[in-house]
Amino acid sequence: MMNQYFKLNTPKSIMIFSLIIAFTSCNQNKEKDQTMQTNNILLQEWTGPYGGVPAFDKMNINDVKNALEVGMQENLEEIDAITANSDAPTFENTIVAMEKAGETLDRVQKYYGLISSNLSSPEFREIQNEMAPKLSEFSSKISQNKKLFDRIKTVYDNSLTTPLEDDQQRVVKLIYEGFAMDGAELDAVKKIRYAEINKELSTLYTNFSNNILADEENYVVFLSENQLGGLSESLIKSMAKIASEKGQEGKYAIPNTRSYMSPFLTYSNERELRKKVWENYYSRCDNADEFDNNENVAKILKLRKERVGLLGYDNFADWRLQNRMAKNPENVMKLLNQVWEASTARVNEEVADMQAVANSENITIEPWDYSYYAEKVRKQKYDLDSDEVKQYLQLDKLTEALFFVAKEVFNYKFTPVAEGTVPVFQEDIKVWEVTNIDTGKHIGLWYLDPFARKGKRSGAWATMYRSYSNFDGEKTVLASNNSNFVKPAAGEPLLVSWDDATTFLHEFGHALHFFSANVKYPTLNNGVRDYTEFQSQVLEHWLSTDKVINQFLVHHKTGEPMPAALIAKIKKTSTFNQGFSTTEYLASAIMDMKFHIADPTNMDVDAFERETLTALNMPKELVMRHRTPHFGHVFSGEGYATAYYGYMWADVLTADAAEAFAKTPDGFYDKDLSAKMVKYLFAPRNAMDPAEAYKLFRGRDAKIDALMRDRGFPVPKS
Ligand SMILES: [Zn+2]
Repeated sequence: MMNQYFKLNTPKSIMIFSLIIAFTSCNQNKEKDQTMQTNNILLQEWTGPYGGVPAFDKMNINDVKNALEVGMQENLEEIDAITANSDAPTFENTIVAMEKAGETLDRVQKYYGLISSNLSSPEFREIQNEMAPKLSEFSSKISQNKKLFDRIKTVYDNSLTTPLEDDQQRVVKLIYEGFAMDGAELDAVKKIRYAEINKELSTLYTNFSNNILADEENYVVFLSENQLGGLSESLIKSMAKIASEKGQEGKYAIPNTRSYMSPFLTYSNERELRKKVWENYYSRCDNADEFDNNENVAKILKLRKERVGLLGYDNFADWRLQNRMAKNPENVMKLLNQVWEASTARVNEEVADMQAVANSENITIEPWDYSYYAEKVRKQKYDLDSDEVKQYLQLDKLTEALFFVAKEVFNYKFTPVAEGTVPVFQEDIKVWEVTNIDTGKHIGLWYLDPFARKGKRSGAWATMYRSYSNFDGEKTVLASNNSNFVKPAAGEPLLVSWDDATTFLHEFGHALHFFSANVKYPTLNNGVRDYTEFQSQVLEHWLSTDKVINQFLVHHKTGEPMPAALIAKIKKTSTFNQGFSTTEYLASAIMDMKFHIADPTNMDVDAFERETLTALNMPKELVMRHRTPHFGHVFSGEGYATAYYGYMWADVLTADAAEAFAKTPDGFYDKDLSAKMVKYLFAPRNAMDPAEAYKLFRGRDAKIDALMRDRGFPVPKS
């Protein structure tokens, strides 16, 4: 399968404030001071059908600041009430009370995250700049609350001698370890420094990601009509539209984002322009101007190192990985290095193939030529025309395919919700109700927001407005998938690439992971970073199953299913260009690890990146998928810091699990294996140790062999 690595599954704000999320959720708050519930819509309880839904149609960014402040205040009062309890700490009066606290703030954060990802503006970015340090301070007030931690520790210690029920035991363990990792056991002096560091970091993170947005908007290449050679009609149309929106009627614009850079580099015949677009994209925030992020990275690395130093850790990676599936940096580097050898060897072969084509044009392959000549080789070697494939990939049909897979594997039914019943923030967003097919039980709502828009961040992602829990009345799931497809003209089908179709399934896999949650406590919903891409990646495999192909991958004009010969070509090409895609990913994943293992004192970030790549023998014909100054996964928050490797870690499981399906008589529609997968790998979320859960599913630990086979690399001898 062609795997995608650039997707985030949580909005930035949630990554930054994961600590807050760890213990916010779900509080009825009945007797709370009603005067605080001003007219501010963001503070109000969600009303309406389906257990209440967010008032996305009434949001106003002028309400954000006040709502966050009131929400934080309320949450702190709830924590005070817990610590003021004179009764001895128990699971009920401490842990359950914490699980209930912060409901209002949680709701506000959902709006805040949504605006940040979908409706960003210079005005909103100013609010973020102001609120980030305040939110960090708030978060520190809770994570460093000694009275609170003492109560948690007592409950935890007691649970070691008098065990609680399994799920309660796990909640206590996760909360206790989370607090310990966040400095709860530090002395008073160190705690002050710890909180200061987090506050400084929060500002740097916001600044880092806002610089990326700025540089995406700052660099646009305008083309004239005679410079469009090689480009598809749909791309040209959308380039014309953007140019005209930017006041350049009659020209064609290439915005500085992946969704334009990537097709342009693949198809444009204009080599000099390819170079220009490539340089703009890979120089984002590396232009020695006010949006340059190198200094931010240096500061972030130093502060991270100092912070974990207070806790007695050598480096950020050691600290971060202790509660991940990988456990430590050595395990991660072992995997990455093992695959690196195979993938760079493959790059050499790919370049040789491309050079053979380029020789006739007297061209030596440079990084801005890779995608272009790869496409030529693809056509020559496999006779596969990406544009022909597109004719069978209509977004509407793919959406039906998602529902089909959800029905077959998860036993879910998706029914469109009548327009106007559930508020949305933009008219293109559609909503479905999800129910269990056998019981008719309501499971949740699924929002789909497919189109690119100004203020929306690039890429595709899944997010959760409300997660499942039942310890305090049953809460049902509100999940959303967001992508950046270019909206077609009225009446025209939206045709997408095979990669984009794969991504569409990927993000839906995250949503299914949200929907299938069967956990009692909110804390058990938290993802484990190097495991949370498994559920999304595994779903990608259903795209090329016969049942999906025959029903949904049909030609937009003739309605004929994708011909067997074309499918065979796609399957044959699935290992094509794996040298490139695996290597560009690995370079970023390894860089992420190296930055956080190294000593950042006096580090020259630019030089470090360069020297690390040289030491790795990075092939000169390609570049890291995310260069350091715009590596948002790692530096615009902490969600993916020393965690970018997680995509590959999870893919080891994905490939291994997919082979298990492929070996059953019914393949990917095997009922028993599907049920096992949902039971052990989806429903428990973090209520079960992921490695244990995987063993229950597979009967053994995952092996790397399937991943290597999937990518067409030699399987290492064990
Ligand atoms: Zn993902």
